[in-house]
Amino acid sequence: MPAYLPKDSTILIIDDDVNLIRMLSHILKDFGQILFAVNGDQGLQSAREHKPDLILLDVGMLPMDGYEVCRRLKNDDATSKSAIIFVTANTGMETEIACLNAGAVDFITKPLNPPVVQARVRTHLRLKHDSAELQRLAQHDALTGLYNRRFFDKALEAEYSRLQRHQLPLGIALVDIDCFKKYNDHYGHLAGDSALKAVAHAIEAATKRPGEFVARYGGEEFVVVLPQIDEQTLKQYGQMICEEIRALKIPHSTSEIDQHITISIGLTHVIPTIDSSPQVLVDQADQALYRAKTLGRDRYEIFSPQDHSKSP
Ligand code: GH3
Ligand code: MG
Ligand code: MG
Repeated sequence: MPAYLPKDSTILIIDDDVNLIRMLSHILKDFGQILFAVNGDQGLQSAREHKPDLILLDVGMLPMDGYEVCRRLKNDDATSKSAIIFVTANTGMETEIACLNAGAVDFITKPLNPPVVQARVRTHLRLKHDSAELQRLAQHDALTGLYNRRFFDKALEAEYSRLQRHQLPLGIALVDIDCFKKYNDHYGHLAGDSALKAVAHAIEAATKRPGEFVARYGGEEFVVVLPQIDEQTLKQYGQMICEEIRALKIPHSTSEIDQHITISIGLTHVIPTIDSSPQVLVDQADQALYRAKTLGRDRYEIFSPQDHSKSP
């Protein structure tokens, strides 16, 4: 199998020897964008700013040596995903072990052997690219491209804990397409898939506040996480999403509601508490959605405690 090279890679070289930076830049000139830094501090700053795919890191630098730079890169969420290859003149087994224990994926020895440098860098760029792609696939829904249910469950948990610490409200919206079984029955499953994508993209495009995100909850249901939202903004959001979907004017001649596709939304928001769980939010939004459906669909409803007694 030919060794392909991922496109648009960024490589950061951190070395206090300018000649070595020059040589490495030359050896790797066709491998992507090359950045460099001549000491540890500069390197850390550049890594935070550019998030390189790969960092070539000199072991013997002053005042901060390569091991310390590596430790700091791995302990910072902003830089921990970059793969690190140490560059060292020391070929001993102990150095090798120290490099790998520090969190590097590999090491290259000086004097530089260009084909070896290229082969190792190519391998690690490819691994980095493949693992990023695997992670993307694991978090996204194949049909709509939205985040999937697994990502939503984890992210909701994290948001719940974060806002519980700050005692700030967390809202969610559960969105369900109306009479969608009839849509499939009438227009076919492929047309149904296209309609699902169109609705997904419209919800995503209209969801803009920082920290908000949309996921496919399952089937023809979507869920939106709405951090730090008050009741009035939550209602405005529900209204706006209903209108956005109506405005798509996707024909639905067999709908009981309208000539076009409509949605129903269940909304809720709570200030997370230590003795409760994110599942409460989902349950409440589900009960509000049930009310929106029974009241005639094509609308949003916000959870109220009376919903408890009415739920199915
Ligand atoms: P309601 O207004 O009460 O929500 O009625 P509904 O018909 O939308 O609800 P129901 O739960 O009875 O049916 C949901 C339909 O969504 C059934 C299923 O075929 C369709 N559906 C779920 N996932 C997909 C999908 O990935 N693609 C397509 N084309 N249809 C899907
Ligand atoms: Mg449904
Ligand atoms: Mg439905």
